[in-house]
Amino acid sequence: MPRKPTLKRPPAAAGRKPEPARGKSSATPGRKPAARRQPAAAGRPPAAPLETGAARVRRILEILARTYPGATCALRHENAWQLLVATILSAQCTDQRVNLVTPGLFAKYPQPQDLAMLAPEAIEPEIRSTGFYRNKARAIAGAARQIVERHAGQVPRTMAALTALPGVARKTANVVLGTWFHEAVGVVVDTHVQRVTRRLGLTRELDPEKTEADLMRLLPRAEWISFAHRLIWHGRQLCTARAPRCKQCPLETLCRAPDKTWSSQPAARAKTAV
Ligand code: SF4
Repeated sequence: MPRKPTLKRPPAAAGRKPEPARGKSSATPGRKPAARRQPAAAGRPPAAPLETGAARVRRILEILARTYPGATCALRHENAWQLLVATILSAQCTDQRVNLVTPGLFAKYPQPQDLAMLAPEAIEPEIRSTGFYRNKARAIAGAARQIVERHAGQVPRTMAALTALPGVARKTANVVLGTWFHEAVGVVVDTHVQRVTRRLGLTRELDPEKTEADLMRLLPRAEWISFAHRLIWHGRQLCTARAPRCKQCPLETLCRAPDKTWSSQPAARAKTAV
């Protein structure tokens, strides 16, 4: 029997709206996507064999729900605009670092209107510590301008309008749509979701959009939002890139990672980040 892990409780996010009632699934759990062969990427181990039977997927969902019942987005925000900006800033940066930066930024520039007329250079000093700050400043200023000019100052709530904003791809749009608007349009695939779903044998893809398509086929739509939140917590706490704690993992018996000896073979760990 795997030992029950000691896990930090996911904190409640500030200003979050309550979870909506779960709707009926429109997906087809249990349908096996065709296995696709792809060349092994440099430095990555082969993906786990695909195992996407409905009962197994349901079991994974149950264990995640039991282990991370309160999991939600760790980026602090009080409205859709703040969540959008925080998500743009979180690229290649930790949520903790973003949460240190955003209170000052939002105090100075609370609304898109406050940033729409600014040159990106004016934002750069506020966000420098999150890395890639020139690109991020350009994206934030551009998104603010577009939201003011085309959306009457309101963050749009469709995938098409969100991904038309500078610096916003599907992952960021899914975070805003799922976490703030409670719209299950897709599945957030960040680095944690990408890594853990491959280890669990739910996808063999390395491209986030293809991984998302696999997960949308596999999971009931009602699970799309919470699944990503829970998997991100799992990836942070147990299924880390270089030293997953498989012996403490509640998914261990269901996991199809080709080599689950990471936790006992430190020398192998550096080579096996997925
Ligand atoms: S058993 Fe190990 S590799 Fe598999 S999900 Fe758990 S921590 Fe990750």
